[in-house]
Amino acid sequence: MELESLILNRIDFDYIFSLLSRVDKHKNGQKFKDLEVDIKDVKTLGLQVPDGLKYWAREIVEKLREEGFEVIISSSPTYGACDVDTELLKYVDYLIHIGHTKLLDVDRVIYVPYRVDYKLSEDALNLLKESVTERRIAIIGTANYAWKFQEIKMLLEKEGYEVILRMGRNVEYPGQVLGCNYSVLDKNDSDAILFIGDGIFHPLGAAIYSGKKVYRYSPLTNEFEIVKVEDFLKKRYSLIARASGCENFCILVSCKEGQNRISLARKILSKIEEKGRRGYILLTNEIKPEVIESFNFDCYVNTACPRIAYDDWKTFKKPLITPQELEIALGIRKDYILDRIY
Ligand code: SF4
Repeated sequence: MELESLILNRIDFDYIFSLLSRVDKHKNGQKFKDLEVDIKDVKTLGLQVPDGLKYWAREIVEKLREEGFEVIISSSPTYGACDVDTELLKYVDYLIHIGHTKLLDVDRVIYVPYRVDYKLSEDALNLLKESVTERRIAIIGTANYAWKFQEIKMLLEKEGYEVILRMGRNVEYPGQVLGCNYSVLDKNDSDAILFIGDGIFHPLGAAIYSGKKVYRYSPLTNEFEIVKVEDFLKKRYSLIARASGCENFCILVSCKEGQNRISLARKILSKIEEKGRRGYILLTNEIKPEVIESFNFDCYVNTACPRIAYDDWKTFKKPLITPQELEIALGIRKDYILDRIY
């Protein structure tokens, strides 16, 4: 029997998928073609789930135990596809990483993406037709929505749109973006962008990255809006203004393999020192005020997941900025650009 079938038979992924709900089983099954280790040797599994899905972890473990596996659960927050628990991997034969598509080349990791099943209702289509007046549109979204974009593309094309659905770097689906990767919008020649999915972070990033008009539609809440970047940029420039007066800077480097940018940190350190200020590199597993604020630094420059600077800055007393924002603060750069890793 083929290895992937063996794995699929021994681990009841249908059950996991049904727990995760709204998941396309067949497409998930294709993921296991990459595995090379003989399944007979697999006794111990690690389980890593993002915070939003941790509620299901115990049930998944019970099911895997029924199949004869010993399971160790990771307590890691599992921020994204970049955040594979390599520590847990030392104790297990395979690590099941739930919620994201593959990003890193780490052996013995099984990615089980979380896919939201959704449709564009007639009402939603009518709303889009009324509001999206541009004819040539690019569709983008996170993995949990992007897996259905071929279907959405056909639907929108029937409504007369010319739909651009491109593949970015280091992603699994056409149209897929990550908070640190909008490469799908490189050389984007659309008139406007339609983001389909949850939250405002990714569409905001897409608008800044591309400089184009971005519409955001959430199939879950039926919310539809044109993304506005002004408030976001106002807040960022106020942090940059605070940073420009700082004498010393702490450059934050993540221990997480997929977020570690130590060489960038070293370059930043040189730039800071060239400008006559002092810089310090701090290696940390978690970027949280309680971990960092006991040190006496004036400003933090984040080289870990870009979302930390954009989303969490309010929880820090001192300014928390991106490497590109630091360049503006030091007078090295004029234009505002988004931080990205992949
Ligand atoms: S670095 Fe951040 S945005 Fe990028 S994959 Fe990791 S968690 Fe997601």
